[in-house]
Amino acid sequence: MIRTHYSTQVTSEMNGTSVTICGWAHEIRDLGGITFLVVRDREGLVQVTLFKKTIDKNVLEVVRNLSRESVVAVTGTVKKEAKAPNGYELVPTQVTVLGKADSPLPMDTTGKVDADLDTRLDARFMDMRRPRTQAIFRIRHLMLKSIREFLDQDGFIEITTPKVVATATEGGTALFPITYFEREAFLNQSPQLFKQLMMSGGLDRVFEIGPIFRAEEHDTRKHLNEATSIDIEASYLDNEDVMVILENLVKHVYSTVAEKGTKYLEMLGVVITVPKTPFRRITYDEAITIARDNGEKIEWGDDLSTESEHSIGKTIGEHYFITDWPTKIKPFYAMPYEDKPEICRAFDMMHPRMELSSGAQREHSYELLKQRISDKGLNPDGFEFYLKAFRYGMPPHSGWGVGAERLLMTMLGIENIREVVLFPRDRKRLSP
Ligand code: ATP
Ligand code: MG
Repeated sequence: MIRTHYSTQVTSEMNGTSVTICGWAHEIRDLGGITFLVVRDREGLVQVTLFKKTIDKNVLEVVRNLSRESVVAVTGTVKKEAKAPNGYELVPTQVTVLGKADSPLPMDTTGKVDADLDTRLDARFMDMRRPRTQAIFRIRHLMLKSIREFLDQDGFIEITTPKVVATATEGGTALFPITYFEREAFLNQSPQLFKQLMMSGGLDRVFEIGPIFRAEEHDTRKHLNEATSIDIEASYLDNEDVMVILENLVKHVYSTVAEKGTKYLEMLGVVITVPKTPFRRITYDEAITIARDNGEKIEWGDDLSTESEHSIGKTIGEHYFITDWPTKIKPFYAMPYEDKPEICRAFDMMHPRMELSSGAQREHSYELLKQRISDKGLNPDGFEFYLKAFRYGMPPHSGWGVGAERLLMTMLGIENIREVVLFPRDRKRLSP
């Protein structure tokens, strides 16, 4: 291993010891008698100070010829220096160029020059070197890790289901067809059917964090064509039970990020407020009444438009649930209320800005489910692999799916969903 320490692992108490730091040449300032090289690694900055009088000529030569953003290994002696980042500087004994950078650079990494999102995404590897961008993905890591911990604690087993499938999850047209040998196949829009199969399979509680593909032609700031979905499914729980899991999960994510992500939140200039549980619950009927009172045009049975979502979100002002949806606008697997089949045990979990999650208690009767599939104008034959599992002992079960990017962007107050995914896929963007 070349490196002995990350920049932040070295402290002024190590005065006099020799360390090796690796990173990018962030800044080079030649003041004649003294030359400063600032090296940036994943964790922070190191000031490398070369005194012309005492420095090895070869080392000085290497640094003077260094191009910005080249990768270097610097071995040097730690010297306490209150004015330098992290309270120390390095007096180098050796500087090796490990990866030379051409110039000009595809974009600026210091944050001094603003690049537009397209430029940044075209040079995402370079954009990732900006502390601000990196902070987003360090928080994304914290978020996903805290979700895994939370669900594991609650008895959920992590599964991985196929993304290449033969049938649409919910019917509809929002699918990407692909060629699978001599047959047509699709990229899966949701792990829905497979996670339900695992209820019949006896895993009892499962979760998956994986890609979902939606071929919708939208060009919005909250839609991607490839997104990351956090999904759970649990036996013997009803819609209300899984709503409690969901609100507690959101609270857990916020408090973990607030506690362990302070460094990154500061870099982003974001202060997060942990939402209070329980989240408010309003029925679909109440939701459309609020939207109407705010001047939106909406009929019973319509899905909520973006404008309605915004207007209801503004009135409520915090995370909330919308429950008891019209059966006809929810997928076939949502369970209708027995005494009022025109509404179902489905819910959406909302941030004031947008929908974060959809979930439901599922229909687990084979006969009723088959009927529901036909009622939606779908052919039950295409769902045979799924329906079969309901004929041989299917427990009652419920679940939900949360969009990882939406959870992250709303938590951090980020406007465009493309900011929080490494290589966004949208109508125009397929590379990198
Ligand atoms: P919307 O109406 O906002 O487009 P949806 O109701 O079509 O969302 P669902 O099928 O309910 O989405 O998917 C569950 C969750 O997955 C959503 O609440 C959202 O957080 C996320 N999600 C769905 N589609 C996308 C997408 N195209 N891009 C990003 N996230 C998505
Ligand atoms: Mg939804």
